[in-house]
Amino acid sequence: MAMKEEKLKTKLGIMNLYSKKTKILISSCLFGQNVRYDGITKGLDNNLLEKLAKKFELIPFCPEVESGLSIPRIACEIVSIKPLKIINKIGEEKTKNFIDGANLTLELCQKENIKIALLKSNSPSCSSKQIYDGCFSGKKIVGYGVTAELLKNNNIKIYDENDIFLLLD
Ligand code: SF4
Repeated sequence: MAMKEEKLKTKLGIMNLYSKKTKILISSCLFGQNVRYDGITKGLDNNLLEKLAKKFELIPFCPEVESGLSIPRIACEIVSIKPLKIINKIGEEKTKNFIDGANLTLELCQKENIKIALLKSNSPSCSSKQIYDGCFSGKKIVGYGVTAELLKNNNIKIYDENDIFLLLD
Protein backbone atom coordinates (compact mmCIF):
# COMPACT_ATOMS: atom_id res chain seq x y z
CA MET A 1 0.00 0.00 0.00
CA ALA A 2 1.33 3.47 -0.84
CA MET A 3 2.65 5.53 2.08
CA LYS A 4 -0.07 8.19 1.58
CA GLU A 5 -2.82 5.55 1.84
CA GLU A 6 -1.14 3.95 4.88
CA LYS A 7 -1.15 7.35 6.62
CA LEU A 8 -4.81 7.92 5.76
CA LYS A 9 -5.83 4.48 7.08
CA THR A 10 -3.84 5.07 10.27
CA LYS A 11 -5.48 8.47 10.64
CA LEU A 12 -8.94 7.00 10.10
CA GLY A 13 -8.15 4.19 12.55
CA ILE A 14 -7.13 6.68 15.24
CA MET A 15 -10.25 8.77 14.55
CA ASN A 16 -12.35 5.61 14.98
CA LEU A 17 -10.78 4.88 18.36
CA TYR A 18 -12.33 7.99 19.92
CA SER A 19 -15.42 8.15 17.76
CA LYS A 20 -18.97 8.72 18.95
CA LYS A 21 -20.20 8.84 15.37
CA THR A 22 -22.72 6.50 13.74
CA LYS A 23 -20.96 3.33 12.67
CA ILE A 24 -21.23 2.12 9.10
CA LEU A 25 -19.92 -1.10 7.67
CA ILE A 26 -17.87 -0.57 4.51
CA SER A 27 -16.66 -3.23 2.06
CA SER A 28 -12.95 -3.61 2.73
CA CYS A 29 -12.16 -3.20 -0.97
CA LEU A 30 -13.90 0.21 -0.97
CA PHE A 31 -11.83 1.12 2.09
CA GLY A 32 -8.68 0.52 0.04
CA GLN A 33 -7.71 -2.96 1.18
CA ASN A 34 -6.42 -5.42 -1.44
CA VAL A 35 -9.00 -8.11 -0.73
CA ARG A 36 -10.75 -8.58 -4.06
CA TYR A 37 -10.66 -11.89 -5.93
CA ASP A 38 -7.99 -10.43 -8.22
CA GLY A 39 -5.90 -9.24 -5.27
CA ILE A 40 -6.40 -5.55 -5.93
CA THR A 41 -8.60 -2.87 -4.40
CA LYS A 42 -11.44 -0.75 -5.72
CA GLY A 43 -10.92 1.84 -3.07
CA LEU A 44 -12.82 5.08 -2.94
CA ASP A 45 -10.65 8.10 -3.46
CA ASN A 46 -9.08 9.53 -0.35
CA ASN A 47 -11.23 12.70 -0.42
CA LEU A 48 -14.42 10.68 -0.34
CA LEU A 49 -13.08 8.41 2.41
CA GLU A 50 -12.11 11.42 4.48
CA LYS A 51 -15.55 12.99 4.02
CA LEU A 52 -17.20 9.73 5.04
CA ALA A 53 -14.89 9.35 8.03
CA LYS A 54 -15.78 12.86 9.21
CA LYS A 55 -19.42 11.88 9.40
CA PHE A 56 -19.28 8.16 10.27
CA GLU A 57 -17.14 5.63 12.04
CA LEU A 58 -16.07 3.31 9.23
CA ILE A 59 -15.86 -0.41 9.95
CA PRO A 60 -14.20 -2.24 7.01
CA PHE A 61 -15.10 -5.89 6.46
CA CYS A 62 -14.73 -8.41 3.64
CA PRO A 63 -17.17 -11.32 3.93
CA GLU A 64 -15.34 -13.50 1.40
CA VAL A 65 -11.94 -13.20 3.05
CA GLU A 66 -13.44 -13.60 6.54
CA SER A 67 -15.08 -16.82 5.33
CA GLY A 68 -11.67 -18.27 4.58
CA LEU A 69 -11.37 -17.58 0.85
CA SER A 70 -7.89 -16.64 -0.29
CA ILE A 71 -6.49 -13.49 -1.88
CA PRO A 72 -6.34 -13.77 -4.81
CA ARG A 73 -9.07 -16.31 -5.51
CA ILE A 74 -10.88 -17.57 -8.58
CA ALA A 75 -13.91 -15.40 -9.39
CA CYS A 76 -17.25 -16.76 -8.19
CA GLU A 77 -20.79 -16.22 -9.44
CA ILE A 78 -24.23 -17.07 -8.10
CA VAL A 79 -25.61 -19.78 -10.41
CA SER A 80 -28.83 -20.41 -8.47
CA ILE A 81 -30.67 -18.38 -5.84
CA LYS A 82 -33.18 -21.00 -4.66
CA PRO A 83 -31.47 -23.22 -3.68
CA LEU A 84 -28.45 -20.98 -3.31
CA LYS A 85 -25.47 -22.25 -5.29
CA ILE A 86 -22.23 -20.40 -5.93
CA ILE A 87 -19.36 -21.76 -7.97
CA ASN A 88 -16.04 -20.40 -9.08
CA LYS A 89 -14.93 -20.14 -12.68
CA ILE A 90 -13.46 -23.65 -12.66
CA GLY A 91 -16.66 -25.17 -11.28
CA GLU A 92 -15.75 -25.61 -7.61
CA GLU A 93 -18.68 -25.00 -5.28
CA LYS A 94 -18.14 -22.16 -2.76
CA THR A 95 -21.67 -21.70 -1.43
CA LYS A 96 -20.72 -22.38 2.19
CA ASN A 97 -18.03 -19.68 2.15
CA PHE A 98 -20.54 -17.10 0.93
CA ILE A 99 -23.12 -18.07 3.54
CA ASP A 100 -20.48 -18.05 6.30
CA GLY A 101 -19.22 -14.65 5.14
CA ALA A 102 -22.74 -13.21 5.18
CA ASN A 103 -23.43 -14.60 8.66
CA LEU A 104 -20.16 -13.21 10.00
CA THR A 105 -21.00 -9.80 8.56
CA LEU A 106 -24.44 -9.80 10.16
CA GLU A 107 -22.96 -10.90 13.49
CA LEU A 108 -20.54 -7.97 13.36
CA CYS A 109 -23.33 -5.52 12.52
CA GLN A 110 -25.47 -6.81 15.38
CA LYS A 111 -22.56 -6.74 17.85
CA GLU A 112 -21.56 -3.19 16.84
CA ASN A 113 -25.13 -1.93 16.39
CA ILE A 114 -24.47 -1.06 12.74
CA LYS A 115 -27.59 -0.10 10.78
CA ILE A 116 -25.98 1.15 7.55
CA ALA A 117 -23.65 -0.62 5.10
CA LEU A 118 -21.75 0.82 2.15
CA LEU A 119 -21.07 -2.19 -0.05
CA LYS A 120 -19.28 -2.74 -3.35
CA SER A 121 -21.45 -3.06 -6.45
CA ASN A 122 -21.56 -6.11 -8.74
CA SER A 123 -20.13 -8.52 -6.16
CA PRO A 124 -21.71 -11.94 -5.46
CA SER A 125 -21.34 -11.03 -1.76
CA CYS A 126 -21.75 -7.28 -1.53
CA SER A 127 -23.86 -6.07 -4.44
CA SER A 128 -27.23 -4.48 -3.75
CA LYS A 129 -28.41 -3.90 -7.32
CA GLN A 130 -26.85 -6.19 -9.92
CA ILE A 131 -24.94 -9.46 -9.95
CA TYR A 132 -23.31 -11.44 -12.75
CA ASP A 133 -25.67 -13.92 -14.34
CA GLY A 134 -23.91 -17.12 -13.24
CA CYS A 135 -22.53 -18.01 -16.69
CA PHE A 136 -19.21 -16.12 -16.36
CA SER A 137 -20.22 -14.31 -19.51
CA GLY A 138 -19.81 -10.79 -18.15
CA LYS A 139 -23.60 -10.23 -18.33
CA LYS A 140 -25.29 -8.68 -15.31
CA ILE A 141 -28.79 -9.22 -14.00
CA VAL A 142 -30.82 -7.56 -11.25
CA GLY A 143 -30.01 -9.15 -7.91
CA TYR A 144 -28.36 -9.00 -4.51
CA GLY A 145 -25.13 -10.53 -3.31
CA VAL A 146 -25.45 -13.01 -0.46
CA THR A 147 -24.21 -10.68 2.28
CA ALA A 148 -26.17 -7.67 1.02
CA GLU A 149 -29.36 -9.76 0.91
CA LEU A 150 -28.90 -11.00 4.47
CA LEU A 151 -28.16 -7.51 5.81
CA LYS A 152 -31.17 -6.04 3.96
CA ASN A 153 -33.42 -8.77 5.41
CA ASN A 154 -32.20 -7.77 8.86
CA ASN A 155 -33.11 -4.12 8.45
CA ILE A 156 -29.65 -2.81 7.62
CA LYS A 157 -29.81 -0.08 5.00
CA ILE A 158 -27.53 -0.81 2.04
CA TYR A 159 -25.76 1.71 -0.19
CA ASP A 160 -23.17 1.14 -2.88
CA GLU A 161 -20.38 3.38 -4.11
CA ASN A 162 -22.64 4.82 -6.82
CA ASP A 163 -25.04 6.33 -4.31
CA ILE A 164 -22.46 7.39 -1.75
CA PHE A 165 -23.66 11.00 -2.15
CA LEU A 166 -26.83 9.98 -0.28
CA LEU A 167 -24.66 9.25 2.75
CA LEU A 168 -22.74 12.50 2.45
CA ASP A 169 -25.76 14.80 2.13
FE1 SF4 B 1 -15.03 -6.30 -1.65
FE2 SF4 B 1 -17.19 -7.52 -0.72
FE3 SF4 B 1 -15.72 -8.68 -2.63
FE4 SF4 B 1 -14.74 -8.49 -0.15
S1 SF4 B 1 -16.54 -9.67 -0.77
S2 SF4 B 1 -13.69 -8.02 -2.04
S3 SF4 B 1 -15.59 -6.54 0.52
S4 SF4 B 1 -16.90 -6.77 -2.81
